[in-house]
Amino acid sequence: MSVHVVGHSNPDTDSVCGAIAYAHYLKATGTDAVACAQIAAADLNPESKLVLDRFGLATPQELTDVDGKDVALVDFSDIGQAPANITKANVVAIVDHHKIGDLTTNGPIFFYAKPVGCTCTVLFEMYKNNNVDLPKDIAGGMVAAILSDTVNFKSPTCTDEDKAAVKELLGIAGVASQDDLFMDMLKAKSSVDGVPIKDLIFRDYKDFDMNGKKVGIGQIELATLDQVADIRADLLKGVESVKSDGRHSVLFMLTDVVKEGTDLIVVSDEPAIIEQAFGGKIADNVMWVDGMMSRKKQAVPPLQKAFGC
Ligand code: MG
Ligand code: MG
Ligand code: MG
Repeated sequence: MSVHVVGHSNPDTDSVCGAIAYAHYLKATGTDAVACAQIAAADLNPESKLVLDRFGLATPQELTDVDGKDVALVDFSDIGQAPANITKANVVAIVDHHKIGDLTTNGPIFFYAKPVGCTCTVLFEMYKNNNVDLPKDIAGGMVAAILSDTVNFKSPTCTDEDKAAVKELLGIAGVASQDDLFMDMLKAKSSVDGVPIKDLIFRDYKDFDMNGKKVGIGQIELATLDQVADIRADLLKGVESVKSDGRHSVLFMLTDVVKEGTDLIVVSDEPAIIEQAFGGKIADNVMWVDGMMSRKKQAVPPLQKAFGC
């Protein structure tokens, strides 16, 4: 039986290209494997679509239920981000760069995680350490994933290991300019023209349990906040609607990757908690948080603290 390699729900480029890279690694080392994603090809985010297209990579197979299947997880280990019936699957491996989630297994597994900026950085180390040949197209997907997760090295999650991996991967993939690749990805990712508001809010969205309160955090990265100037009122209405669906708070991060900060749209039962978390004042449901680029490192921990987790 093939090992189904899959990243988290609402897959980002790391989950998509990480699944492709790990599936290839498993096959190259003697384990039959297939790259999967928890989404149909047509629903992939525009950045991932561009990356697959740019490097000529096949779209991972859609996988939404893993009952009875052998699975390997990349870029997550939380049950809440897994395909349906993950507890009835045989998890054989996890490669990740996040905190360990709540998934447990019945038997021993291959588990490899490092506190670096991207799963593809961890996978690149595995390729190198085991002398596994890395095809040009997969190297392209991996370097794109690292640039995406580290916001072209600007995210505080970025490490020297990520930078060294990018340098080598650019060479293998034959990419002349890191910045040009990143800008192409950014333009694809941040294009809001004609995109339904709900799709924007859920493009990169996660729900968290904060001391018994459901808190949703979405994020889009923009080349400039001007890109959303005309749709701010609609975005606020959209965030209000997500909040009204049983949540204590919903935060929507409009991250300006050039200015390096986030305009935070906040709808909350207790806005004072959000203000306390980020040390600012919310005006008209918006607060600018200078320097905030990463949901994982700069949004979630202060919120958990402010919620008393
Ligand atoms: Mg991810
Ligand atoms: Mg990642
Ligand atoms: Mg990410």
